[in-house]
Amino acid sequence: MIVVSKKTEVHSLLENKRQSGSKIGFVPTMGALHDGHLSLMREALRVSDVLLVSIFVNPTQFNSSSDLENYPRQLENDLALLETVAPNAVVFAPEVTEMYPPNETLRSYDLGGLDDVMEGAKRPGHFQGVAAIVDKLFQISGPCKAFFGEKDFQQLAIIRHVAAQYHPHVDIYGVPTRRESDGLAMSSRNMLLSPALRAEAPIIYQSMLKFARQVRHDGIEACLKEFVAMVEKSGHLKVEYAEVARSKDLKSVTDFEENTRFFTAVFAGDVRLIDNVSLS
Ligand code: AMP
Repeated sequence: MIVVSKKTEVHSLLENKRQSGSKIGFVPTMGALHDGHLSLMREALRVSDVLLVSIFVNPTQFNSSSDLENYPRQLENDLALLETVAPNAVVFAPEVTEMYPPNETLRSYDLGGLDDVMEGAKRPGHFQGVAAIVDKLFQISGPCKAFFGEKDFQQLAIIRHVAAQYHPHVDIYGVPTRRESDGLAMSSRNMLLSPALRAEAPIIYQSMLKFARQVRHDGIEACLKEFVAMVEKSGHLKVEYAEVARSKDLKSVTDFEENTRFFTAVFAGDVRLIDNVSLS
């Protein structure tokens, strides 16, 4: 495994590999790696020759300084885990100033209105920050296949939009959500949950599955009410939003239709958990 921290090092390493005919598979992460990240890497290794993994907690996508401060950072553990699953990977783990030189003015990205809803509405500026880092990382990686989780479905849609405009030579792959055995979507934030809240959190996915089973019959409004009641029953979890939106353009719908997904964000104490599931 090769670990580098400078853009120029990644660029020249990848150019060398490309010249010998290798196809690059790129998995961007913020570290605190778990099996969800590894499933992206397995998929990347399946369809490409060289795996590039970035580990960078991107400050511009955090809209709360305490969230940024508390975000888990464990580079040594991450590298040890990566060594066991992808010993030939190229790992890019830059400092903040390498990605955001002082005095740099960030551009504003056209996100096609996909950022007006759900995560974008609740976390102003979040997706501009995501677009900024993904743009920068794609500039460094060059043409490649890049892998993102459906766990962050809105992010995936926005990255497809950004890549189509600014990086047409990058192929975007979406990878299904990996879950713990009790159904909780794997997330780096899960390790911030107290044992009591961790024990309660699986009710989110259980309630989502119930929603998905009943929505055709009972309708969206009634099922949303039941979802919120089920999740909030103990008094320790709080639903920030729950809605049904079209998979393609993320437009919210109130009457059930095909090709939609159920999306939710739930606070478990201070920890904000997001999840989504296909309804058709
Ligand atoms: P993060 O480190 O949280 O920024 O995530 C890096 C990538 O891993 C993103 O594309 C996420 O959507 C993806 N990811 C995070 N959790 C999961 C999961 N449980 N299953 C699949 N992909 C995931």
